This record gives sequence, C-alpha cells and structure tokens, in this order.
Amino acid sequence: MTEITLLMTETQINSIVCSTREDLPNESCSLLLGKMVGDEYNVKVLKKMSNIANSQYSFNIDPDELMKVYQSASKEGLDIIGIYHSHLVGSRPSSTDLSYMRINPVIWLIYELSNSRFKAYMLIDDNLKEVKIKVSTV
Ligand SMILES: [Zn+2]
Repeated sequence: MTEITLLMTETQINSIVCSTREDLPNESCSLLLGKMVGDEYNVKVLKKMSNIANSQYSFNIDPDELMKVYQSASKEGLDIIGIYHSHLVGSRPSSTDLSYMRINPVIWLIYELSNSRFKAYMLIDDNLKEVKIKVSTV
C-alpha cells in the first residue's frame, strides 16, 4: 500500500497555528481545499470555519458556511481534501472524530496545542491510517 502525503506550505501551517490560538480555549476548525495528485494531497486554500459548538472538546461546522465553501471550491476547481481541527491535549482522533471520519473520508488534520504538533489521518476501510505531512517553504 502506498503512503498518503499531505502537502502544505509553511505559510499555511503558520496561519492555522495562528487562528487556532485566536480561537482558544475552544477547538478551532478549518477546511483544506486543494487537489489530489496520485497519493499526494496538495493544499491550495485554507478556509477558516467557525466552531458553532463553541467547545473545548468538540467542533461543529456551520452547515451554511460549509455550503458556501463547497460552492467556492467547485468554482475554483478545487476539492475539499481535508478537515482540520485542534485539540488541547492529544493528537489522535476522538471517538466522535472517528464517527465523522467515517462519513467524511478525507484527510483529518489535527493540531495538538499541548505539544505544538500536527498529525494527519485518514480512515481507510475502517482502519485509522496516519498520513505523512510534508511542509514546503514556498
Ligand atoms: Zn477531535
């Protein structure tokens, strides 16, 4: 089985960390728009979403906001290739995350604030697979 890679730029990483800190203490969420080339998922645009759950332990994306992102993505010829959210502690998907991963089979990017680290996952045939994150400096 080939390795799935998430390609992001340093600027995108910094911008996610920044908006995540602004949303504290609540979980922050964003959508990753881009293109899949082979097993590489290339992030082109980040869309910051509001967490309407207003919670430190979960997130919920506003369905109207989500619809708008789908529309603008298709206009730009991009797909929603990933869903990002933050955790205060722990970088593994929670059981709630896993149930949503089942119905949203894209890359799930998680930033763990307590360790300042990113992890990415995909649920493939109900198996949690870690996705490699490649950061470019461009
Ligand atoms: Zn989570």
